[in-house]
Amino acid sequence: MQSKNITRSQELFQQAQSLLPGGVDSPVRAFRSVGSQPLFIDRGEGAYVYDVDGNRYLDYVLSWGPLILGHANHDISRVICTTAQKGTSFGAPIPLELELARRVMGFYPSMERVRFVNSGTEATMSAIRLARAFTHRDLIIKFEGCYHGHTDSFLVQAGSGVATLGLPDSPGVPTVTANQTLIAPFNDLDAVKAIFQSYPHQIAAIIVEPVAGNMGVVPPVEGFLEGLRGLTEEFGALLIFDEVMTGFRVHPGGAQTLYNIKPDLTTLGKVIGGGVPVGAFGGRQAIMDLIAPAGPVYQAGTFSGNPLAMAAGVETLRILENPIVWENLEARSKQLKDGVLSILRKKALNYHLQSAGTMFTLFFTENPVSNWASASLANREKYAQFFRNMLDYGVYLAPSQFEAGFLSSMHGEHEILLTLEAIEQSLV
Ligand SMILES: *Cc1c(COP(=O)(O)O)cnc(C)c1O
Repeated sequence: MQSKNITRSQELFQQAQSLLPGGVDSPVRAFRSVGSQPLFIDRGEGAYVYDVDGNRYLDYVLSWGPLILGHANHDISRVICTTAQKGTSFGAPIPLELELARRVMGFYPSMERVRFVNSGTEATMSAIRLARAFTHRDLIIKFEGCYHGHTDSFLVQAGSGVATLGLPDSPGVPTVTANQTLIAPFNDLDAVKAIFQSYPHQIAAIIVEPVAGNMGVVPPVEGFLEGLRGLTEEFGALLIFDEVMTGFRVHPGGAQTLYNIKPDLTTLGKVIGGGVPVGAFGGRQAIMDLIAPAGPVYQAGTFSGNPLAMAAGVETLRILENPIVWENLEARSKQLKDGVLSILRKKALNYHLQSAGTMFTLFFTENPVSNWASASLANREKYAQFFRNMLDYGVYLAPSQFEAGFLSSMHGEHEILLTLEAIEQSLV
């Protein structure tokens, strides 16, 4: 397979080095862990993106998850345009905030009150402040390999981006802050129990990706989420489900619906903005009423609840309320999964495909992956080679072994067949 001509992308990346640190605005985009250079994207259409050299790629990154309806969905583009014509930001309440709140709560009944913010990072950062205020405690528990945005408290054993770059921690995070974050291996309930026994009255909250996606897809083992719910109740801590990625992705109602666990607080992002920056956190009313101006916990944002994000979010959720959209997404996910498994069998490759709803990761390891320790055994060089081969075949996967791939409603049967063909050729 001939490599594609990416001259223009290469030129732009060269220029970008002298303008942006590392040439990008977010680290994993730089393609470093796959020994390659990023493509500059010109436009997207449905399941496809086109780079500035005119190459077309079937896209499984989908802006790292948000684009569940594919690129440049007509209905979403239309509401963004008509909304923009009436003004893009007022810093004042607008009716669309109520409409998006009602729709979010329709999918996530555990969110009795919701606050909209501008990113997943803001959502998790604020949720933790709120949990600390509510419980009058400082410590939090997070899991090795889970990512909750780039706030200081969370840059400890933080999965994909951080792990890919080989930064176990980040310089600039004060030790006193990092020390407030206690780490347990994902899927290890005994470790969590031991932490609670050591600090029975000091833990404000557990924050967890209920299906991990930021070390590649790692579903919870049976009883893990139930166990977290039980321990938090026993020790008076809050349970925060960070569903910024899993929301609308593992199930329209997120992992909390799929596994029937009610968290105290939930964070959302990605899908709920319909491709425009947005995040949200919400939960039990008694907790949320501590947020200013209802209560004393400060949280604010110039662009929070802005018309473009609210309009794109409302339109996305309106479309997702049609059950046929989810049924199709599940059918295509199954087609992809079955196809990959049969290729692996045929080639006698014992790699592990792990998936949940519309998220998947092919781990280049012969061990099942249940936590960061087992994920990190995956062969990164083999993944990098696979990634580059797939790109040559016109399929754009995440440029890291430790990321999820995503499907959109625009990935039809034809696209899945193209993908399977490319995988068959690319797996060596
Ligand atoms: C992407 C992500 C975040 C951060 O969201 P941003 O919008 O990138 O700030 C937080 N938590 C999880 C689980 C995510 O996948």
